[in-house]
Amino acid sequence: MLNCLKANEICTGAACMKAFHLKSKSFSRYAEEDAEVAAFMRCNGCESDPSTDKGMQEKLQRLVQEEIEVVHAGICTKDREGKECPVISRILEMIEESGIEVVRGTH
Ligand code: SF4
Repeated sequence: MLNCLKANEICTGAACMKAFHLKSKSFSRYAEEDAEVAAFMRCNGCESDPSTDKGMQEKLQRLVQEEIEVVHAGICTKDREGKECPVISRILEMIEESGIEVVRGTH
């Protein structure tokens, strides 16, 4: 799961985890599968440019090494109007370029 660093100040991740364990909402696609949560990562903040951020590149390499198959972007990565954060859009693009499927949504 990929989440907003700012949301992390007020979010425990509990709703995402609960939805995953219940295989509900965006995780209903795993209802018949033995899927597991392998990582819970955040963006590196509003000032960070994912294209040049070495830390983010390292995180993406790690996802590939761990053979992560799908990354879900949390609802915290969208604003109140439902518009996706541009930094997250770029990270998701890079994740897809790494050969990992992207799903927009968790709980
Ligand atoms: S870049 Fe976007 S997702 Fe990351 S902390 Fe800022 S608002 Fe949240």
